[in-house]
Amino acid sequence: MNDCIFCKIVRGEIPAQKVYEDSEVLAFPDIRPQAPVHLLVIPKAHIGNLYEAQPQHQSALGKMLAVAGRLAREAGASDGFRTIINTGRVGHQEVYHVHMHVLGGTEPLGPMLQRKR
Ligand code: AMP
Ligand code: ZN
Repeated sequence: MNDCIFCKIVRGEIPAQKVYEDSEVLAFPDIRPQAPVHLLVIPKAHIGNLYEAQPQHQSALGKMLAVAGRLAREAGASDGFRTIINTGRVGHQEVYHVHMHVLGGTEPLGPMLQRKR
């Protein structure tokens, strides 16, 4: 996946301030934060989105959830946070490499979804 921006971060070709890394996953701050704490947790292997997830990805996908609480707390979100994985057009996915947003801060976040009028 030569052109994938998050694969480039995994390969070190685009800089990111890594807050967590192991053999399967990587976490770094979102470049356009939408909350005081806004991290992205990604699998190192290229998975375009959750439609493409396969049984062999279970370990990395599970690890993303397993480290989220620790990373949120370490980043200053110790009283709750939200995880979001956007998928495809309807989910407003912008970057086609699976990533989990970890959003939080000290104050409650807005509603999960904006109600359409
Ligand atoms: P999504 O709509 O879920 O696909 O969100 C993609 C996210 O990736 C957005 O919140 C972007 O701000 C973020 N993003 C894009 N490029 C970078 C980058 N180089 N480093 C960190 N975050 C990025
Ligand atoms: Zn990728």
